[in-house]
Amino acid sequence: MNKLISQITRTSTAVALASVLTFSLQGNAATFKLINADDPGIGFNDATPAAPVGLNTGTTVGAQRLIALNFVGSLWARALGGNDVIEVAASFAPQECTATNGVLAAAGPLSVFRDFDNARFPNTWYPSALANRLAKTDLDVASGEPLPEIGVTSNGDLGKPGCLTGLSWYYGLDDKAPNGNSIDYVKTILHEYGHGLGFLSFADESTGELFDGRPSIWEHYMVDGKTEKRWVNMTDAERKASAIDNQFLAWTGFQSFIGAQQTLTNVDTLDVFLLDKNGIAFLPGGTANFGAKEGRRSISGALGFLDDTRAPGAACAALTAEQAMSVKGRVAVINRGGCAFTDKAKYAQASGASAVIFVNNSPSFAGRPAFGVDDPTAGITIASTLISQQDGVRLRQSGTRYASIFDTKRPGGMDLLRRPLLYAPTVVQPGSSVSHWDITATPNLLMEPISNGDESTALRAPKDLTLPLLKDIGW
Ligand SMILES: [Zn+2]
Repeated sequence: MNKLISQITRTSTAVALASVLTFSLQGNAATFKLINADDPGIGFNDATPAAPVGLNTGTTVGAQRLIALNFVGSLWARALGGNDVIEVAASFAPQECTATNGVLAAAGPLSVFRDFDNARFPNTWYPSALANRLAKTDLDVASGEPLPEIGVTSNGDLGKPGCLTGLSWYYGLDDKAPNGNSIDYVKTILHEYGHGLGFLSFADESTGELFDGRPSIWEHYMVDGKTEKRWVNMTDAERKASAIDNQFLAWTGFQSFIGAQQTLTNVDTLDVFLLDKNGIAFLPGGTANFGAKEGRRSISGALGFLDDTRAPGAACAALTAEQAMSVKGRVAVINRGGCAFTDKAKYAQASGASAVIFVNNSPSFAGRPAFGVDDPTAGITIASTLISQQDGVRLRQSGTRYASIFDTKRPGGMDLLRRPLLYAPTVVQPGSSVSHWDITATPNLLMEPISNGDESTALRAPKDLTLPLLKDIGW
């Protein structure tokens, strides 16, 4: 996994294209029709010479971009089947970008429909491409002319000074972007078309408000695992809370459920369970890359709170006599921050702690289960787990004095009912939150919000869950 690439986010914001220049194009994407919305000389019309790369025979930058986009259309056309004609308005345009972080591309449906013939749910919005499929007719027509269903913009500044400097688009069709500084354009746009076809919520993830006061098809399938309420049945306040319910926001569609069992694989986790006033609380935890090994990490015991939320630097030195008293023979609860995990575990162990529950020090949960760097010289033998900052607050406020830590294997990206999880970081990320699979999915999935470069382009199980979800909503 490339560190830099892992920080590049993709957004699902619907785009509105003001002026559309039509451009007729031949290609092998029979059911995806491209509308080139770029001005002469830029984007898809960039005449800069380019050497053919990875089965892409184009000899200019613009031609390679068009060939790659057509190729994405052909992959989707095959996956979706049917006789649909889906028009895509495509352009290259500047996107939110800094030297190290930026949006690769954005896409979304250009119009929405409800209460058409064959709509499965009444009073429910559907993205136009899906509405057309279900209604068996082209619903988005103006003055007799078909309108594009999907808008997609790609970051035309990528690689220029100040925008993901040093990176470049890879226009090959062979899924072989060189590691390090190339971003696979086909894979990026394959992801974006997924949004355009309906892989997104229309609700406002920051306020919980529904689009135009009505649910979209997406909200019928999104469920909060803590309340078992679907978004369609929630109040705005409940949706707002659910949007940041990390590791509990799940998808209930049957195709995705079956696909998830075939696709997602187990990862080591060290989960915390405690009894609080609401019953048994489950705090998902990561497994430390140091200390006790598999099979010897489960432990139950009294909790020893070493510090409060105002003291993130605790246990970065040998504990004071008073601190040692609070963790001796107990499961130490220690905030992350100030020094390495191994330093804190070492000092807690030296004072007699039986295990450590680390509480994350920033609201965005690390996501991936494993954490820390092994340091054999530290001599750590006790187990350590890492829970989210939000769950740390819950742990401190629960009033409980005992907790159990269980060494488990959980499929990466599933909840306890084995439903695939959606991305719900504890701080809303507009355009990313609730409209992607969770970043704990293992293996990585195409529709995660962050590109890791190793996602499959198969779209279907047992490699990916993009198509199963689209089938759930009616494709
Ligand atoms: Zn996305």
